[in-house]
Amino acid sequence: MSSTPHPGGHRQRFDVVIRGAGIVGQTLALLLARDRLKVALVGQPRPAGAGPDVRAYALNATARELLRSVRAWPEDGAALAPADGPPAVTPVTAMAVHGDGDGALHFSATEQGAEALTWIVDVPALEQRLAHAVHFQAGITCLDEAPAHAALTVVCEGKRSRTREELGIDYDVRPYPHKAVAARLRCERPHGGVARQWFQRGEILALLPLGGAQGNSVALVWSVPAEQTDGWTTAEPQALAQAVQERCGSALGAMTLESPAQTWPLELSRAQRWIGRHPAGGGVALAGDAAHAMHPLAGQGLNVGLADVAELAKVLHGREYWRELGDMRLLRRYERARQADVAAMGWLTDGLFGLFNQQGSRVQALRNWGLSGVDRLGPLKHWLARQAMGQAA
Ligand SMILES: Cc1cc2nc3c(=O)[nH]c(=O)nc-3n(C[C@H](O)[C@H](O)[C@H](O)COP(=O)(O)OP(=O)(O)OC[C@H]3O[C@@H](n4cnc5c(N)ncnc54)[C@H](O)[C@@H]3O)c2cc1C
Repeated sequence: MSSTPHPGGHRQRFDVVIRGAGIVGQTLALLLARDRLKVALVGQPRPAGAGPDVRAYALNATARELLRSVRAWPEDGAALAPADGPPAVTPVTAMAVHGDGDGALHFSATEQGAEALTWIVDVPALEQRLAHAVHFQAGITCLDEAPAHAALTVVCEGKRSRTREELGIDYDVRPYPHKAVAARLRCERPHGGVARQWFQRGEILALLPLGGAQGNSVALVWSVPAEQTDGWTTAEPQALAQAVQERCGSALGAMTLESPAQTWPLELSRAQRWIGRHPAGGGVALAGDAAHAMHPLAGQGLNVGLADVAELAKVLHGREYWRELGDMRLLRRYERARQADVAAMGWLTDGLFGLFNQQGSRVQALRNWGLSGVDRLGPLKHWLARQAMGQAA
């Protein structure tokens, strides 16, 4: 990697300019540089002054393989964190999803013949591993401002992308009436590698296991009506821990807060186009949250964003020798390959949110009956599990 300040514009020519150095942008940079393309990666991974992200991501087997292939999976290679620290990756061997009555759905990795259903990854550890991989990849130049021209510009700037706006690409946004509260909690009892989720009282509470298979900590993702979330960031730490403990029926015993609480607005959004021509020449493609965002109830946003860049890299790698990287036919292949999957995941998360956000005893009875019904229906349950694991069919 080289990092260059460049007042007055960068003179070097790049094959691909990636705008946005988040997880999606950095992964794409690594994939393309591995293919011997000259890549400019524009922007800082985290906004200046932002504290560490308290979240942990559920990443599926496909995302794990992709990150492994670019040497950015936090478990592999020499640990960047202190050796006595907790593991950065926790395999999920079972999932328990509870409705607001006695409806419940249970998945297990053994039932699916898999090593794990998903992996819970500490976000700061993943960011550190990616930054390290980018640093040692000679084909990537990190810049603060975009160079004037490239055959292809890929926008990975997340939901509020300025470049997408400057390019005049519309982004349809439907905000949810909820925000997510995220924090780390220490529990009296070990989590046993189980990811737990409750759909109750119109709220969605997830406790994701952290610190390895024997760990006692969990990452909280709690989707609650927006007007209540600010109260949780300023509340006494024990008040939040106690509220979570009460909501989950003390499933993991007594809880204490291990981090500050952070909140995120939630939305279902989609760019109207994912590809286009750049006014300065060359092609443009969008990927990750810059192209689409969804409710985190199924832990799929980043999985889907990583699948975008895997597909884009595959299409560029397989291009006919005479095609430019920004060729619209090429970019259309990428758009076509990804849009249907992303739309389906958006509808699924939106449908689940709508179903569990409706109040009323009849709807409640119906959805709890549905949860238990799916639990008994082997093939449907297997299909749902494979979707969540990123292995369609
Ligand atoms: C509470 C919560 C929990 C979640 N849990 C999961 C989960 O378990 N599993 C999962 O798969 N997904 C999850 N997600 C979704 C996941 O966070 C996003 O899908 C993912 O972060 C998108 O990555 P990205 O790189 O596309 O965008 P971002 O993470 O938003 O990164 C964009 C990058 O672009 C930079 N940038 C922005 N504007 C500019 C600019 N003008 N110039 C240069 N750089 C710029 C930013 O600084 C940042 O580095 C969750 C989301 C939330 C809110």
